[in-house]
Amino acid sequence: MNNRFYNLVNEFMRRVIGISKRPAHGFPQRFLSHYNFVVAGGGSGGCAVASNLAKHGSVAVVDPADSHYYQPMWTLVGAGIKTTEQSRRRQKQCIPNGTTWLQTSIEGFDPEENSVSLHGAYKDKKITYDYLIVALGLEIRFDKVNGLTETLGKNGVCSNYGAGNADYTWEVLSAVKGGDLLFTFPNGPIKCAGAPQKIMYLADAHLRKAGVRRNCSLTYHTALPAIFGVPKYASVLSSLARKKGCGVETKSNLVEVDGEKKEAVFENLETGEYSTHTFDMLHVGPPCAPLPVYATSPLADSAGWVDVNKHTLQHNKYENVFAIGDCNSCPTGKTAAKVAAESGVLYENIQKLMKGEKLSGSYNGYTSCPLTVGDNKLVLAEFGYDGAILETFPFNQANPMWLTYFLKKEVMPPLYWHGLIKGTWRGPGVFRKLAHLGTV
Ligand SMILES: Cc1cc2nc3c(=O)[nH]c(=O)nc-3n(C[C@H](O)[C@H](O)[C@H](O)COP(=O)(O)OP(=O)(O)OC[C@H]3O[C@@H](n4cnc5c(N)ncnc54)[C@H](O)[C@@H]3O)c2cc1C
Repeated sequence: MNNRFYNLVNEFMRRVIGISKRPAHGFPQRFLSHYNFVVAGGGSGGCAVASNLAKHGSVAVVDPADSHYYQPMWTLVGAGIKTTEQSRRRQKQCIPNGTTWLQTSIEGFDPEENSVSLHGAYKDKKITYDYLIVALGLEIRFDKVNGLTETLGKNGVCSNYGAGNADYTWEVLSAVKGGDLLFTFPNGPIKCAGAPQKIMYLADAHLRKAGVRRNCSLTYHTALPAIFGVPKYASVLSSLARKKGCGVETKSNLVEVDGEKKEAVFENLETGEYSTHTFDMLHVGPPCAPLPVYATSPLADSAGWVDVNKHTLQHNKYENVFAIGDCNSCPTGKTAAKVAAESGVLYENIQKLMKGEKLSGSYNGYTSCPLTVGDNKLVLAEFGYDGAILETFPFNQANPMWLTYFLKKEVMPPLYWHGLIKGTWRGPGVFRKLAHLGTV
């Protein structure tokens, strides 16, 4: 029986399932060799896009993971405010209805043949597509810091990055009675560039509450030349760090950790000199990198990211390929907020392409960094390409506020589970335009 027949059956089942509200993912279980849409990765971006595309044809979501995490919660997990379990859902609850979940990894891309090759139970199988959406995220590279992999999760060396890792951050922090606490930001790309310093402010607040802050020194070592990449927020954060008595070392890059000796080695990126600092707690913001599966494929740009037009999100060479989220080459902060804004643009553009029309959706680089600064307050950084300020509210969001902290802690998680990954929350662009009467 040919692919067309299977696609018809698939489409029929999708509609029937849609009516009966039965869980549609993975049903029919039959493996099709062709789908209208292949979505590579079922994380934030993959689910958001697949939810919408299910209305337009057969969709395969390829992802091996059993669990889906709301990663922005891990900062709060590290500070003992939420738990890892609260950040987790079973993947089968998240894969959108009306799509087929192939629970395996993609091993390779052949965009000339419109095909991807699969791993595991589907080994040696290829699936072809009319349209491909790459949403594979990125890779956390603890191994790029000498000695880190061996000691992470013990000896006071922790990181909120990676599923389950933030539990140890809280274990270490809640036991601190005094000593040196170091927080690091890597030399190179990282998802959620604010997360490495958010945990420092939360640690500061916890230590004050525990009555041991005066016994502790807290220092933020960042490989960047400033505390934050956008000047408006950098100046507020610098004075906050000063007020809280937190040291800030810029152009200081963690290169080596000796967990047993409790020593961290930093390279000064300006002078090339190395210095060794002892620690009682070391929180690492890890180097991140493109995943080899796309970095070594024809889809990659010279840095390894999926090479897309930064406004349309369409691949620069293969017009039926799009990419969303951490894996794409858009020069802006890699966050779930970025995914939300991109998902609307990508959906609009793919529909245009299907109709043979000019792509009109244009992504402005919107990203957001909710910087928890302690005392139940937050600096809500929102910006786009070239540091353009894209704040939603009609007040200065650089001021630490209780309201924005409440949004981060209580509103954003349900917005993620019930809006973003369902493809309906496409970022606050509409509210921003209303609040600023269309001027921002
Ligand atoms: C500590 C921390 C704090 C953060 N804080 C915030 C915040 O406050 N605000 C914010 O907006 N963002 C924040 N983020 C960032 C945000 O979570 C990510 O940017 C976002 O989830 C990226 O979505 P994605 O779809 O690109 O990737 P992911 O959601 O990571 O999904 C990638 C998917 O691809 C799958 N996959 C990988 N390899 C393969 C393969 N070979 N084949 C098939 N599937 C594969 C994975 O299993 C995964 O499900 C934070 C992240 C961290 C770690």
